[in-house]
Amino acid sequence: MSRTLFISDLHLAGERPETSEQFIRFLRHEARDAQALYILGDLFEYWIGDDELEDVPGDPLGRLVAQGLRQVSEAGVALRLMHGNRDFLIGERFCAAAGAQLLDDPSIAELDGERFALLHGDTLCTDDLPYQAWRHTARSAAWQREFLAKPRDQRRVAVLGYREQSKAAVRAKTPAIMDANVDAVCEAFRRLGVTRLVHGHTHRPAHHQHMVDGTPCERWVLPDWYERGGYLAVERGAARLVRFGEV
Ligand code: MN
Repeated sequence: MSRTLFISDLHLAGERPETSEQFIRFLRHEARDAQALYILGDLFEYWIGDDELEDVPGDPLGRLVAQGLRQVSEAGVALRLMHGNRDFLIGERFCAAAGAQLLDDPSIAELDGERFALLHGDTLCTDDLPYQAWRHTARSAAWQREFLAKPRDQRRVAVLGYREQSKAAVRAKTPAIMDANVDAVCEAFRRLGVTRLVHGHTHRPAHHQHMVDGTPCERWVLPDWYERGGYLAVERGAARLVRFGEV
């Protein structure tokens, strides 16, 4: 029986060790019983380059996560990793250490003959123009080359600065602006030629139904792990959102 799990938006960070502990438990238990685990972005709160795998005094998070993932991939679980807006600098070196394959955004996964489109979700938030402008810059090869050439301490300071700017910007935006735009969602269904779509990013876990050109489509939004966390499980073509701590 095939079972595939999807997670995103863990936002793992040294300052919130309880989430990392929950993730390691998830890797030891739920993930082991799956055929495949898809991580659809924002595994980390931020990732400033794969040299995070080298020992940082007092902050071994990157290395511990790569090791935990490696144990899962070595146990035979197919690991797929997509960039989020926080950890888009995860590179080949991290993926090799984790035993994960890097996925494009968007990608299509075929599970038991059913096609699912997979996205992080930030590209659907088309109402947030300042964010889309920043995304365009930060995903350019030139910006990344320049950023990665800086010493690690400088990159860390820069990222903490971006986080503060982003928090201030988020406070100034309405919740609707930061949600997926329904037109962008319908366009994604058309363009990708699917009736099922999975994404994270908005931290609004849900199962949405959409009518696209007369065809019923479904969209699963993954939960973040700031509070409870959880995952989407797909078994024999049927999907189900599972939250931790449910009785
Ligand atoms: Mn995100």
